[in-house]
Amino acid sequence: MADAKCPTCKKVMVGGPTGPHKPFCSERCRSIDLGGWLDGAYRISAPVEEEDLDEGMPEGAGTSKDDPAN
Ligand SMILES: [Zn+2]
Repeated sequence: MADAKCPTCKKVMVGGPTGPHKPFCSERCRSIDLGGWLDGAYRISAPVEEEDLDEGMPEGAGTSKDDPAN
């Protein structure tokens, strides 16, 4: 069987995914792919500040960064 990569950590699994966690290399990677990382150690700690994106930028104010040559 051809080698395969774990969808989560990209670790090469020689001979293809095997064991109870396939196509992942481990229980940990399977949990991450299923969204388990939202529950614990992998929580994103830097929320996006949507306020600045929506109301803090009137029309025309953002054009300069789209045209660096100007
Ligand atoms: Zn993995």
